[in-house]
Amino acid sequence: MKGIMYHYVRENEAEFPFFKHLHIEDFAKQLDYFQETFGFVSEQGFLEALQTGVPPKGVVLTFDDGVKDHYKYVYPLLKERGIPGVFYVPTFMFEGKMLDVHRIHLLLGKYDSKLMYDKLVGLVTEDMLTDNNIEAFKQATYTKQQNDDYTLAFKRTLNYTIGYAHRTAVIDKLMQEFFPDEEELKQSFYVTPEELREMKDGGMIIGSHSKNHYVMSKLNREEQIEEIADSFAVLEAQTGGLPYRTFCYPYGGAHTFTPETEQLLTDHGCLYSFNVEARDVEANDLLHRKQALPRWDCNAFPFGQCR
Ligand SMILES: [Zn+2]
Repeated sequence: MKGIMYHYVRENEAEFPFFKHLHIEDFAKQLDYFQETFGFVSEQGFLEALQTGVPPKGVVLTFDDGVKDHYKYVYPLLKERGIPGVFYVPTFMFEGKMLDVHRIHLLLGKYDSKLMYDKLVGLVTEDMLTDNNIEAFKQATYTKQQNDDYTLAFKRTLNYTIGYAHRTAVIDKLMQEFFPDEEELKQSFYVTPEELREMKDGGMIIGSHSKNHYVMSKLNREEQIEEIADSFAVLEAQTGGLPYRTFCYPYGGAHTFTPETEQLLTDHGCLYSFNVEARDVEANDLLHRKQALPRWDCNAFPFGQCR
C-alpha cells in the first residue's frame, strides 16, 4: 500500500502567474497512472487493513493544509471517479490569520520575485540581523542573476536570516502593501466549513493537521494535547461530526513527532496518522505504528512534478 501526499493542485490562475503547484491536468494523468499501475485502496479496505495488518494493494491519496484547491479542483475529480481522498486540515484557519508559509507562496505567486525581494530587503533593519549574518545578508544582495535566485533569497531571508522573531511582522508589512484585504484572501485560499461538510458527504475523509501547524516535537505534553484535542473538536463541530479520527503531522519528518505524540494520538481516539517518510506502508506499520504511517510525495511518480 502506498500513501501519496499532495499540497497545491490547481489550474494556472491568471492572477498568480508564478504560483508553484501541481497542474490539475497532471493530477488527472497521475490518477490514470495509479489506476492502471496499482489501483486505489477503498476506505473500508484501509480500515480493515489497520485491523488485520495485511497491506492492501493500491494507493491512498492524502492532501495537506486545507487549501481551497482541494475543494475546487481535487474533490470534483475524485468524486467523479469514486476515489476516496484523505484531507488534512489545520484548524487555525477557522480562527486566526493565514499561515506565514502560505502568505509567502501567495506573494511570490502573484508578484515578480525580484520586486518582492527588493521590497523585503527594504524592510529588513540591522536589529533583525545577528552579527553572524549581517555580512552574508549584505553580500547576498549583489549576487542574484535569475528569477529563481530571488525566490530562494526571499525565502531564505525570511526563514533563516531574520528568523521567526521578526518574520511575521515583516510579512504583515508586505501583505498590507500587496494583499490589503487579507481576510478576503483567506476566504478564497482555504476551504470553508461548508465546503468540508460537502466533501465529507461526498465520500471524502477529513482529518486533523493540528491546530497551529507547529512542529509537534517542539511542544510540551500539554501543548501537544491542545493541538490534538482542539483541532479534532473544531473539525467535528465545523463538519457536523466525523466518522473517525485521523491525523497528519505538520512538516512530518521523523523528528517532528515523538513516541509521546503517537501515544497521545492513540489516547485521543485517532485511528491512524501519516508522516512523510517516503516508503510503502508495510504490515509492521499497520500493526505496530498506526500513528506513523509513511507516504510518498506525489513528485516521486509520473506526472507528479510542478510544471
Ligand atoms: Zn502542512
